[in-house]
Amino acid sequence: MENAIATVCLSGGLSEKLLAIAGAGFRNVELFENDLLSFNGTPREVRRMIDDMGLKTITFQPFRDFEGMPSELRARVFQRAERKFDVMQELGCDLLMICSNVSPHSLGGIDRASADLRDLGELAAGRGLRIAFEALSWGRHIYDYRDAWEAVRRADHPNVGLVLDSFHILARKTDLGAIRSIPADRIFLVQMADAPLLDMDFLSWSRHYRSFPGQGDLPLDAFMQALLATGYDGLLSLEIFNDQFRAGSARSVAIDGHRSLIAMLDQIQAGQPKGRRVGPLLPRKPKCLGTEFVEFAIDEESALRFERLLAGLGFGKTGEHVSKSVTRWNQGEINIVVNTEKEGFAHSFNIVHGTAVCALALRVDDAKAALDRAQVLLDQPFRQAVGPGELEIPAVRGLGGSLVYFTDPKSQLARVWDIDFAPLGGTGARQDAGLVAIDHISQSMRYEEMLTWLLFYKSLLDLSKLPEQDVLDPGGLVKSQVLQSEDGALRLILNASQSAQTLSSRFLDEAFGSGVQHIAFASRDIFATARALAANGVEVLPIPVNYYDDLEAKSDLSPAAIDELKALNILYERDGEAEYYQLYTHTFANRFFFEIVERRGGYRGFGASNAQIRLAAQARLNPLVVD
Ligand code: MG
Ligand code: MG
Repeated sequence: MENAIATVCLSGGLSEKLLAIAGAGFRNVELFENDLLSFNGTPREVRRMIDDMGLKTITFQPFRDFEGMPSELRARVFQRAERKFDVMQELGCDLLMICSNVSPHSLGGIDRASADLRDLGELAAGRGLRIAFEALSWGRHIYDYRDAWEAVRRADHPNVGLVLDSFHILARKTDLGAIRSIPADRIFLVQMADAPLLDMDFLSWSRHYRSFPGQGDLPLDAFMQALLATGYDGLLSLEIFNDQFRAGSARSVAIDGHRSLIAMLDQIQAGQPKGRRVGPLLPRKPKCLGTEFVEFAIDEESALRFERLLAGLGFGKTGEHVSKSVTRWNQGEINIVVNTEKEGFAHSFNIVHGTAVCALALRVDDAKAALDRAQVLLDQPFRQAVGPGELEIPAVRGLGGSLVYFTDPKSQLARVWDIDFAPLGGTGARQDAGLVAIDHISQSMRYEEMLTWLLFYKSLLDLSKLPEQDVLDPGGLVKSQVLQSEDGALRLILNASQSAQTLSSRFLDEAFGSGVQHIAFASRDIFATARALAANGVEVLPIPVNYYDDLEAKSDLSPAAIDELKALNILYERDGEAEYYQLYTHTFANRFFFEIVERRGGYRGFGASNAQIRLAAQARLNPLVVD
């Protein structure tokens, strides 16, 4: 199959859009009429520009309100179509895409529609052009692909074909079975779009919330399996109307689009007969085994304060890099790397972002395969010079310019701590706090970036997403999206807000960009951890007494149990028999903070009922300064 993308997906003017499309590796483009009309140049000049970029215009669209017009209007729509044909011939594009009629003047009847399609097909054929017909999910008479196909079938003209648009078909939950019996050569174009499941009218849902495959909740796999059953091997084109995309960078959105198609074709490859390849060959999704380390880029002065916090949290300094100013802090399976180098990646990162997480290292089952897969998915690999005998850890660029490293248990990478680090005897540790592993990592990003990073992680790793949640911050609404591996070895939370005053947005201002905002450590016994933190002089986020009064009223916890939670500022959530305990440190340098959690009885959530209490408590401690 050949990939394509519609100009309507992207922000900017026509030339910017085309540059982004070509730059992302597409060769085919759907030209939207408005992009042509708003371009300052003739269709011939557009044609030259498209040619020069190595692109091909596969369709000109949309042509609206055509079929089924009463006789007094019919001649006029045909004249209008002929003018589009003139433009297409100048553009060097041979396919006009017609959406089903929404006009109140239009008349129903499959035969009437098919007669119109046949007559226009005949005119198109005279000029060496073709037309393709799509059922809009809100079409007046034709809103079902099966009716659009019936109109095309009865038109019985080689220059008249069908458009299948995954959104219009899946939004109406139309049965997919009939796709399988459409002859592949009558499908002139397939348009791909995903969308979140929303309860709204089809038009608004389509115009604002479409997204790339894998970013939404529509059953695109089932659609693709039905399509492939026809033997279709033609154009697969992204047609996405999305407000976030139109506010984002055209370049990055175009790359996301290409990445989404590669990932989608990879996913459906599994169901194909032997020998049939539907997309590029890429290594299977690596399995996440956990977080190997989290690396902080930090200057020497801040590092002193940060290391005091780590020690207070029960970490010991257990290693020193053999050639760099980098130390390892360890507790349980958790490794924190503190990088105070004066050159290289971490240093540049620190200059731009201040004290921040500059890299996450994920332990996967095959690190090399992970990097290979990332490259096929158009992720950006990263390399920097390493000292003699040191490991080159595979890495790609992640959120906000940070890095994602991959280690695995089967190569030399498993020995990273022995090879790149000299052991220290756990100096600096105070009382062990019983922290055992990283439970989850929360990243904040600009609202427009959220779907980008969702796709990045989901296409690369074996993660699935939970439904998006709204969290109430005193400064506004925050969208929160969980991505996790089946067994919880890796849990990522993506947060974004359109309000400038939420903690999530303020983090972006402080840190000059997106990144890790908090890391949650799993504790063996959160009460023991809380007492160790108190003994070590680590301040925790104070939780208002009202919270505990309410907890007493709504839970069956004993007054003594509530008193203990209250004394230690621990938040509590119950889900059936499962329980969740949480506490938070103060925010470090107005940037990030740590959370301590304990899951009991197979608890799977993230304490959603406590999020608002926690955010309000943090806002009280870090009031927004308004001048
Ligand atoms: Mg469409
Ligand atoms: Mg959390």
